Amino acid sequence: MINIILFGPPGSGKGTQSEKLIEKYNFRHLSTGDLLRSEIAAKKPLGIEAKSFMDKGQLVPDSIVIGMISSVLDANPQAKGFLFDGFPRTKAQSQALDALLKDKHTEISLFLALEVSEDELVKRLLNRGLTSGRSDDVNEEIIRARIIEYENKTMVVADYYKQYNKVVTIKGEGSINEIFSSLCHEIDKKMPL
Ligand code: ADP
Repeated sequence: MINIILFGPPGSGKGTQSEKLIEKYNFRHLSTGDLLRSEIAAKKPLGIEAKSFMDKGQLVPDSIVIGMISSVLDANPQAKGFLFDGFPRTKAQSQALDALLKDKHTEISLFLALEVSEDELVKRLLNRGLTSGRSDDVNEEIIRARIIEYENKTMVVADYYKQYNKVVTIKGEGSINEIFSSLCHEIDKKMPL
């Protein structure tokens, strides 16, 4: 089983690259952003609670996202591997994920970190806001708040996985296909022959 974390700031291309990766490798895609948005769309209590944080560009409390991930892992015992997108985003989430995977006798195989400059991130997110229908993409202040949350709470997650030598940094600027090939190159090195 191969489990991958696709890491990077908001707007770094995790969603775009995840779609291509799951098509190629058949991983089970696990995006906490998508899961939260579907809870909101279904007007579930969890979604209503999460929305108040998301609309301000803040991270949703750890207990909410960890519970959500735990249910999806339990619901997919046959998965050949998971691609985590937008999770873990805090050190507590990383520790919880490691424990959940350990229970299932597996672990994170690779941590791929996309690197993109802040100016490029803001440009991409404002552009995405024109069509995504996501309220957190239309306002530059909320976008900046999300980047600050990333710097204050999420960047440490890369240090956490560095201690296990699992981190590979990938340049997240260039064409979608160029970035995709760099990611595949690293994943293929981890694939059983
Ligand atoms: P982006 O990567 O562009 O920020 P996401 O769809 O991954 O988009 O996340 C949107 C919002 O959902 C975040 O700003 C945050 O409020 C919430 N969120 C998503 N994943 C997590 C997580 N793992 N922990 C806490 N909050 C999360």
